[in-house]
Amino acid sequence: MTGRRPEAEPHLDLERTEFDVLIVGSGFGGGTVAYALSRAGLKVLLVERGGWPARDDKDWNGRAILLDGRYRGETPIGVRQSGAAAEVDTYPNAVVGGNSIFFGGAALRLRATDFARWPITYADLEPHYAQAESLLEVHGRAGDDPCEPPRSGDYPYAPAPLSAPARRIAEAARALGMHPFHIPIAINHAGPREPRCINCFTCDGFPCRIGAKNDVTQTALAKADPANLAVVARVLATRVVERDGRIVALEAINLDSRDSGRRLTLRARLFVLSGGAIGSPALMLRSGLAARDASGTLGRYLMRHCNAMMGYLFPFRTNPEHVNHKQICITDGYESVREADGTALGVIQDMCMPPREVVRALGPRGFRWAAAVSAERIQTLLCIAEDEPQADNAVTLSAERKDAFDLAVANVRHEYTEADTRRRDALVRTARRVLRRAGGLVGKKRLIDSFSHAVGTARMGATPETGALSPECRFWAYPNLFVVDGSFMPTSGGVNPSLTITANAFRVAAQIRQDFGALTLAPSSSPVGKLPA
Ligand SMILES: Cc1cc2nc3c(=O)[nH]c(=O)nc-3n(C[C@H](O)[C@H](O)[C@H](O)COP(=O)(O)OP(=O)(O)OC[C@H]3O[C@@H](n4cnc5c(N)ncnc54)[C@H](O)[C@@H]3O)c2cc1C
Ligand code: SF4
Repeated sequence: MTGRRPEAEPHLDLERTEFDVLIVGSGFGGGTVAYALSRAGLKVLLVERGGWPARDDKDWNGRAILLDGRYRGETPIGVRQSGAAAEVDTYPNAVVGGNSIFFGGAALRLRATDFARWPITYADLEPHYAQAESLLEVHGRAGDDPCEPPRSGDYPYAPAPLSAPARRIAEAARALGMHPFHIPIAINHAGPREPRCINCFTCDGFPCRIGAKNDVTQTALAKADPANLAVVARVLATRVVERDGRIVALEAINLDSRDSGRRLTLRARLFVLSGGAIGSPALMLRSGLAARDASGTLGRYLMRHCNAMMGYLFPFRTNPEHVNHKQICITDGYESVREADGTALGVIQDMCMPPREVVRALGPRGFRWAAAVSAERIQTLLCIAEDEPQADNAVTLSAERKDAFDLAVANVRHEYTEADTRRRDALVRTARRVLRRAGGLVGKKRLIDSFSHAVGTARMGATPETGALSPECRFWAYPNLFVVDGSFMPTSGGVNPSLTITANAFRVAAQIRQDFGALTLAPSSSPVGKLPA
């Protein structure tokens, strides 16, 4: 059984209906705003370029999901990274629920210190972190994490017992004087809904075939008010349209096979972009909004954490029962570089080995065959280091290339600083110690170059000169345009981003609900540049 789908009624004439709020993108940001505003009584339309997750056997098939790209979208992004001279095309997934469908469920809060360069504080977000943990039904235990920020309450559910591979990591870390703890996790082990998690081996990176992962379709969209929310899949937003100082419409293309290619003009009183930290700036740049961004930051300061997987070969099968063991987190040393670098160090998390066929195709170069043959004897840890915001790491539009929909292709350029890789390598050294202590014999590091943790490309700033968005995540130039995906984050912090994106979306939704009348007034009387306090 899977969650209810708040799909638009087939007879709903999208172009003739004026919605209160139109949201682009159905990930943690967009899904949460849809949940909160539909329940507040506003009429919400959410458009998403991907289709609904299939939830069939192929969703747990390594080849189908990770190699053949079952959910790959139609639009490429050209990525230039790691000193390469030219862009290489990749095709991000497109699906209702966004990356929540594939996420590993880790649901951590940033620490108060992570907000030093933000225009808001941890205290501003704390109540919304609690809302996010409740919406995503996070399982965790307050007080376990040695550098946990202050919390107004406990987690909604207690964590599931540790599996044998996770226990092995926890015991080794403890023997080395560290303080490993249960990763707070958005997976349904003890929540009220069915089905519960069966601890399969294909979780991180895969849709949950049975719907036990607390992704956006199973939480925010399933719990939204169906009378006030219409979700329309397979609609690609192409441009927001401005008139007289406010956004009045969204132009889009219907990708649904029944009506494929039809151009749509959708109207609403207020617009919320949540196309992800690459999708939203691309849409805003295609709409000409760079010219209205006094900070010059739109599309810039792309971050994605500086990540690596450390794998060790053991003299025994590390996970003979093939269970999901993404259960242990290590935050010791999180603050150790704060003074020198101005950032967090980051965290280490337990992680399952990908299926054998995926290791064979994507394992460390020169070791693929050996790693695939010995996959059952390998155990891995994921190292997530904070990376610095840098203006040159950016999403831009290609001047030459158009995609299948005649839209300028988004190019992504990204390089790490020497300090980013130093922080990652420090975490890798700790991961090595833990794995060796656990009984590992010989190890190999694999760098991660995906944009799965992309954030930062429409950063908040205290003034229009310092960020494309106001502290309320409103695009400064327009009273009725907000951005709520990971783009808003001024720094990446040292933990996985989803819970922060969800908490912030609750914060923004509360502001929109409170000021809806003022935000949607005609421009002459609307408070451009200064929201009501
Ligand atoms: C394999 C994997 C594992 C992860 N594990 C974790 C984890 O354990 N914990 C954690 O905190 N984070 C994890 N992450 C990261 C996390 O999933 C993302 O940070 C988060 O989902 C981003 O949410 P978002 O709302 O910013 O955007 P997204 O999830 O990227 O959603 C954007 C949506 O907008 C749609 N869209 C984009 N452009 C358009 C357009 N023009 N028109 C219509 N629709 C559009 C996209 O199709 C997409 O559905 C993981 C990510 C991956 C890939
Ligand atoms: S581990 Fe649980 S939540 Fe994850 S895919 Fe398997 S059944 Fe679903």
